[in-house]
Amino acid sequence: MSTHDDVIVQHLIDPELCIRCNTCEETCPSNAISNDLRNYVVDVDICNGCQACVSPCPTGAINSWRPVLRQSAYTREQQFAWSALPEAPSDPALDAVPPGRGRGDGSVVVENRFTPARPALARVVENRCVTPRADAAVHHIVLDVSNDDFPFLEGQSVGVLARGVDAQGARHAMRLYSVACSRDGEEGVAGRLALTVKRVIENRGGEEARGICSNYLCDLTPGDAVELAGPYGADFLMPDDTTAPLIMICTGTGVAPMRAMLDRSRALPAPRAPQQLFYGGRTPQEMAYFDALQAAYGATCDIGFALSRQAGESKRYVQDLLRERHDVLAQLLARENTHVYLCGLRGMEAGVFEALAQVCERHGLNWQALEAAMTQQRRLHVETY
Ligand code: NAP
Repeated sequence: MSTHDDVIVQHLIDPELCIRCNTCEETCPSNAISNDLRNYVVDVDICNGCQACVSPCPTGAINSWRPVLRQSAYTREQQFAWSALPEAPSDPALDAVPPGRGRGDGSVVVENRFTPARPALARVVENRCVTPRADAAVHHIVLDVSNDDFPFLEGQSVGVLARGVDAQGARHAMRLYSVACSRDGEEGVAGRLALTVKRVIENRGGEEARGICSNYLCDLTPGDAVELAGPYGADFLMPDDTTAPLIMICTGTGVAPMRAMLDRSRALPAPRAPQQLFYGGRTPQEMAYFDALQAAYGATCDIGFALSRQAGESKRYVQDLLRERHDVLAQLLARENTHVYLCGLRGMEAGVFEALAQVCERHGLNWQALEAAMTQQRRLHVETY
């Protein structure tokens, strides 16, 4: 019989929910997380339970805990071999309570209602390319999710399970896409969920490599069935406070959650506080919703574009746009209820934070202190891949 002192709450990663985005390994301050290209695992001898990795994980796979006897804690090698988390042991001595995921404001956000093992079934309502350039196709896909009552909020993500198996005969890994419409549904129709999907076709050493899930989605036609897991995420949500200004900074298809938030704001009975969108892309022909954004949300949001490959113009990244719009940006950053959202390429993070620091310095603000306060108050939201 073990004593309570022998019990630890071991931090694990659910291989069924993990999308192998590497965020946890990059975030962990003690280097307790590693991967073997198949699974991400936590070294029980190093992890100190600080939970720095928990909030950045887009699916919640990292938020897995098992009370175990210390001497029988799962080793890295055991975790590498898993396809699913093992059943929780039934030893009555293992009564430790796993640390939960705090939400700060006590509100309830539905997450993980559907899993890869028990997905929801959606139907395609619409699938159209919204970029004029065929070699840079981004699709706007509308799914009817009303049959399985799949809930979603702006800023949450949805797991898509492409049909078929990989070379090892395992089901294709789930891929995450951001909700691109308001919780009220695409065009106000309840139960209609919009996604923004870039058809990924890469040239790898002369060979064409097609993204499994993006091509699966872009090839769907109305009436087709799609399996979904989720919804995922509780960290990229809009504030309920409609006086809170929103600064939205995105690259490429990272525009999807911004469209959702703009959609939500537009439907509010009273206008919400200022909204600024900074949207970076290569050319208008390669950017989803380039004209549509202005037409639909221009009255409720100040929208700026940064084009990196526009013929005849010098390269401009979204961080250049932030520096150009320093006046308005500094005014908003100085307000104590402003929320900042950053979505798109992982590589943009450093440049964007540097630009925000420069804007602050120019206007007598301290970005380091501001960033710490915004993080602590959950007003800084980052979702990059
Ligand atoms: P992309 O077309 O490759 O790039 C968008 C723009 O970002 C281009 O103008 C690019 O410029 C620029 N860029 C490249 N490096 C940059 C840097 N270091 N700083 C600032 N700008 C930079 O983008 P994409 O292929 O659409 O990728 C979007 C990303 O968003 C993906 O990682 C995707 O996973 C993620 N995302 C997608 C969704 C969704 O629902 N679909 C949701 C959330 C996040 P150049 O190419 O000219 O250098």
